[in-house]
Amino acid sequence: MIVTEVMTQPAVLILLGPPGAGKGTQARMLEEDFGLVQLSTGDLLRAAVAAGTEAGRQAKAVMEAGELVSDSIVLAILRDRMAQADVAGGIILDGFPRTAGQATALDSLLSDAGQRVTAAICLEVDDEAMVGRVSGRTTCAQCGEGYHDEFKRPATAGTCDKCGGHDFKRRADDNAETVRERLKAYHAQTAPLIAYYDGKGVLERIDAMGAIADIRRALGAIVTRVSA
Ligand code: AMP
Repeated sequence: MIVTEVMTQPAVLILLGPPGAGKGTQARMLEEDFGLVQLSTGDLLRAAVAAGTEAGRQAKAVMEAGELVSDSIVLAILRDRMAQADVAGGIILDGFPRTAGQATALDSLLSDAGQRVTAAICLEVDDEAMVGRVSGRTTCAQCGEGYHDEFKRPATAGTCDKCGGHDFKRRADDNAETVRERLKAYHAQTAPLIAYYDGKGVLERIDAMGAIADIRRALGAIVTRVSA
């Protein structure tokens, strides 16, 4: 008797979009809504910088200038993270891939594991609004919840809504000048990936200029559809 087993592969979602589009915010919500794991190469690199590893020392100045860290450093960091057990149930890649080389390296990494990209979701926004969005960002130092000086203040000033923490941090590269450099890097090196994933038939687009809750719902509908 031949038994045909239908294997559903764990979701591999990519969030594409310029700095400030809301990739990190929405990735954290997708973690909550779908039990996926957020993999942010920006977070992994910041952790490497904070830990003072060799990769972190090489990445630090590049990140502060708003440029892209080399593919070799980013891929090494991502490979290590993807080897950990908690990613088995599906991942949301936030801030990766950012270059054509990273996209093809991801394809081969996934194909070695019998997987492929489930969907690359492009968060569409206006560039000029991104400078304001990114410049006002802060994060709770304790739980990582994101806030904005203008658009998302904690209910009680100085206290995190989620964990009650009082310490908020601001990223070194979240200033208007560096954001403009990061936007340039996005358009030159990352935006071409939209056509790459369109060609593979896995591109989804979403208007990401609206309210966070509306974008969360729209994204959720896409994730439900592509994971079916
Ligand atoms: P992010 O937290 O995604 O905004 O990333 C912050 C900074 O980390 C970027 O401006 C880059 O300098 C670096 N970075 C993060 N992810 C990547 C990546 N996939 N490739 C190259 N550089 C990256």
